[in-house]
Order: sequence, then C-alpha cells, then structure tokens
Amino acid sequence: MPESTNTSASDEPRTIGILGGMSGKSTVEYYRRIDDAVNERYGGHHAGDILIRSVNFADIEGFIASEQWDEAGSYLADAARDLEAGGADFVIMATNTMHKVAPDITDALSIPFVHIVDAAADAILDAGIDTVGVLGTSVTMEDAFYRERFAQHDIDIVVPDEADREDVDRIVFEELTKGKIRDESRDRYLEVVDDLVEQGAEGVVLGCTEIEQLIDQADRPETPFFDTTALHVERAVKESLDVSVEAQ
Ligand code: GLU
Repeated sequence: MPESTNTSASDEPRTIGILGGMSGKSTVEYYRRIDDAVNERYGGHHAGDILIRSVNFADIEGFIASEQWDEAGSYLADAARDLEAGGADFVIMATNTMHKVAPDITDALSIPFVHIVDAAADAILDAGIDTVGVLGTSVTMEDAFYRERFAQHDIDIVVPDEADREDVDRIVFEELTKGKIRDESRDRYLEVVDDLVEQGAEGVVLGCTEIEQLIDQADRPETPFFDTTALHVERAVKESLDVSVEAQ
C-alpha cells in the first residue's frame, strides 16, 4: 500500500508517555489534568492520548534513601523503554527528584524526553523573573542537577535553610506521597515560602509534584508560585497537540 501523503503528523495527537508512580498521588493528577486539558480544548468525549508506566514507589524511595543513583537510573531507563516500546511519542517523568537520573533516561530513549525544569523555567522567564525559591525533596533542593538545569535558563535558585529543608522533605515522604494533607504542614510550608521571599526569591517553584495538593497560589497571592505539576502537564499537552518536540 502506498504511504499516505495527505496526513500530517499534526493531525493526530502525539502519545504522551508518563513515567509515573513517584508517587501515584501525583501521577493521577497528571492523568486527570492532561485529560481535562484535551477535553477543554476539543469538547465532546475527547481525551488525552496517554500511556502510563507506573513504577513501585517503594523501590524509588529505597534508591533515594541509599543514594543508589546508578541503580535508579537503570531502573527508570528500563521503565522508559517500556513506554517507547508501547508507542509513546515522547516521555515525561512525573517527579522532580528523579530527574537527577534524567541523563540515563534520555540515553535509553530514541524518542524525546520533556524535562520538568524546562517547563518551569519557561514560565518563570515569561513572568520576567530570574531568582526563584525551591521547595522539594532534599535531593531536589540540594543536588546540583536542579540548580544547574535552571542555570542553563539563566535562573538562580535559593533554597530553605537546613532545618527547613529537613521539614519540607519529611512532609513530602511521610505525608504528601501518602495522600495525607495536614493544616499544620501547610502552615509550615507557607512559613518557608515567606523565608524564601526574605532571602530574595521573586517567586517560588513547587518543585515536588505533590506540593500543589498542600499549598496553592491563593495562599500567597503576592508571591508567584510555579507549580511543576501544572507546568509540566501544560507542556506535555502542547507537545502532544501542537508542536513537534526536539530530542533533549
Ligand atoms: N514527587 C516528588 C518530586 O516531584 C517526590 C517523590 C520522589 O522522590 O520522586 O520530587
């Protein structure tokens, strides 16, 4: 059969491969938000073209606790290959922390990988901001991978002091990734947001994909929040429906 010449790639949505389960609490949000965005655009029964490979968060938590980054990299590279083999046109990973091993994933794929920091950075620059505070896990707040990726976009990051970082990290692992939302923890996070602003942050990156379940923009209308879950989803929907993605 001759190859069709009247169908351009943009006629069909590109399949979004979600590397998820880190935790499942945020992966369901990715799924829901992508689906809602596509439906909002096309109406009717239109829904997102999505493939999810959800890993066991206990394995991931173990790799983080024991700093087994090589093992984490090959574990997630294997899972990303499953998405490619299943027909994904590009991959997003629904966690900030595990972007520490993003190079292992991009090396394993021949389809594009859409980095969470790039999605956040574009929104920050669009807002005319170049210094942001970061809330996330200890790895995200302390490791070079996050800071350096923002630096590639000429964005500086400031992070909470050590005691605050410990609390922010503990709340992620003991509460948010288990679906526990506590008022006390919300107050604690907002205190840390205020400290980041005092340190010179012009906005704050919600740099963990579960944080949007605890605090949102209405809690601090005067400080722009950059929610990585929402921004990553927005980018994925755009890449699926509108533009062709370049390999990173
Ligand atoms: N979902 C979180 C993040 O965005 C933390 C869980 C994890 O370690 O992957 O970093």
